[in-house]
Amino acid sequence: MSFSSSSFAIQRQRMVKEQLVPRRIDDPATLEAMGTVPRHRFVEDAMQSRAYGDHPLPIGSGQTISQPYIVALMTQAMQIKGTERVLEIGTGSGYQAAILSRMCERVYTIERIDGLLGKARRVFDQLHYYNISSRIDDGTTGWKDEAPFDAILVTAGGPEIPQPLVEQLADPGRMVIPVGDREVQNLQLLEKNEGEVTVQTIEHVRFVNLVGRHGWDD
Ligand code: SAH
Repeated sequence: MSFSSSSFAIQRQRMVKEQLVPRRIDDPATLEAMGTVPRHRFVEDAMQSRAYGDHPLPIGSGQTISQPYIVALMTQAMQIKGTERVLEIGTGSGYQAAILSRMCERVYTIERIDGLLGKARRVFDQLHYYNISSRIDDGTTGWKDEAPFDAILVTAGGPEIPQPLVEQLADPGRMVIPVGDREVQNLQLLEKNEGEVTVQTIEHVRFVNLVGRHGWDD
């Protein structure tokens, strides 16, 4: 079965209305980005018909693109106003970076698996999303040359909050990161304000592992 882009647009509007609004996603910028970015372009052709479903999907190399609601929840928690420079750890399919890129000044995104980043970059180019910088590295050490960042989003789950990321967060700044064991995590919101750091849990989640120096061993 093939779907025209207008059918994808209809599925996308339905996703916003049925999966996000009833779960208290109400930030206008988040809803606008989720309603605009073509999520189906970030998954394999064979999976496109399921791109707007209420679930994560495999993207290859044992990784996943998060459920739409989780992407929206993390995005909303960062309270982006438009002028921010945002760091993302775990580019994966590139979908989350694409959402952020519609809402802020520039996105810096780091992925450790070459093949995934190559695919994501091609989609960014095809969609003319030019305010995304990306690189292959262990994102748990951050991106020192471009720090500080107004917001940091980690889209893989680690055993603790990597200290280099706390250091590279601006003041004021907000970081969203899943922290826990290898199977389940708490989605934590870290806020830095006038030198003080506070952390609160906003949701229980299941993410793929954050692998690196300040994450899990491979
Ligand atoms: N944000 C992605 C979600 C991808 S899943 C999306 O929208 O599709 C998480 C990704 O984090 C995987 O691609 C995995 O390879 C990557 N990852 C895990 N540990 C990492 C690390 N230390 N540095 C960079 N990327 C990492």
